[in-house]
Amino acid sequence: MTLYRASVLLLLLVASQSQALPVPDTEDLLPQEENAEDLLPQEENTEDLLPQEENTEDLLPQEENTEGNDIKNDTEDIGEKILASNNHSAAFLEEGDLLPSKKRNAIRCRYNSCRWPKGSDGLVSIPYTVSRDFNSYENQMIEGALGGFASKTCIRFFPRRSEIDFISVENRAGCFSSLGKQGGRQVLSLNRNGCVYTAIIQHEFNHALGFTHEQTRSDRDQYVRINWNNIQSNMAYNFDKSDTNNLNTPYDYSSLMQYSSKAFSKNGHDTISPLSPHPVQLGQNRGLSDSDIKRINILYEC
Ligand SMILES: [Zn+2]
Repeated sequence: MTLYRASVLLLLLVASQSQALPVPDTEDLLPQEENAEDLLPQEENTEDLLPQEENTEDLLPQEENTEGNDIKNDTEDIGEKILASNNHSAAFLEEGDLLPSKKRNAIRCRYNSCRWPKGSDGLVSIPYTVSRDFNSYENQMIEGALGGFASKTCIRFFPRRSEIDFISVENRAGCFSSLGKQGGRQVLSLNRNGCVYTAIIQHEFNHALGFTHEQTRSDRDQYVRINWNNIQSNMAYNFDKSDTNNLNTPYDYSSLMQYSSKAFSKNGHDTISPLSPHPVQLGQNRGLSDSDIKRINILYEC
C-alpha cells in the first residue's frame, strides 16, 4: 500500500511540476525544417552560371556555430544588435555592416546608381535565395519582412528562378549587405544567432536597394552631432559623411537606417547626439519608417 501510494504521489508530483515548467524557447517549439530548400528553388549549378568575383568569398566570414538563437529578445535597438553581431568581422565592413563594393574602381554606389531595374509591369522584381541553413521559422521571418516592402512600395522580392542578378541570403558571421545591386550573386548575411529579426532583415535589404545609413547623410551635421571623442579610435571611419542623394526628404531620426546613439562607443557615452529641440530617440526596431518607405517610392519611381 505504501509503495502504491508513494507511486501515485510521485506521479502527481511529476505532473504538477511539469505544468509549472517554464515555456521553452519559441524556436524549440518550432519544427526544425530539414527541407527548407524545398520552399525556395535552388540552383544546382549556381556557381557555374554566375560570374565569380575574385576573392569575395575568401573575404566573407563563415559562420560555424548556428545554435542558440534568442529570437524572443526583440526589444533591443537593431543598430546595437547589428554591431554586436558584426563585432568580430567589422574590419572589412564599412559603416558597420556594408560590404565593400565588388567594383573596386567604380564610383561607389549611392542612391541613384546600382538600382534594380523596373519591369514593364511597373514593379521592381528582385530575385533572392535563402540558404538551407535557415529553418522554416526563419524562412517565414524573412518572407514576412520582405512582405513589408511589397505592401507599401513597388519592390517585390521573389524566390529566384534562374536570374543572373540576385540576392543570396546566407548565414555568415554577422548582419551585412552590399549597397545596391552589384550584379551576379550578392551575399546578404543574416546570422541566425543575431540577425533574424524583421527590422534587421529589412535594414539589410534596404541596403541592397541602395540606401545607406541615416547618420552618414551628406547633411547630417545639421541634425546630429558626432561625438568623436567617444568613438572607438579604429571605428571613426564609420562616421564619415557620404555624398548622398537625400531625395528631398528630411533627416529622419526614426529611420530604420539610423544607428543608435551609442554606436561604436568606446566608453558607454553617446557617439551620436540629436540636435533636435525635442527629445528624440535614435534608432528603432520596428521596421521601415514612413520616410524609409517614401524614399524607396521616390528612388524607384513607384
Ligand atoms: Zn546598415
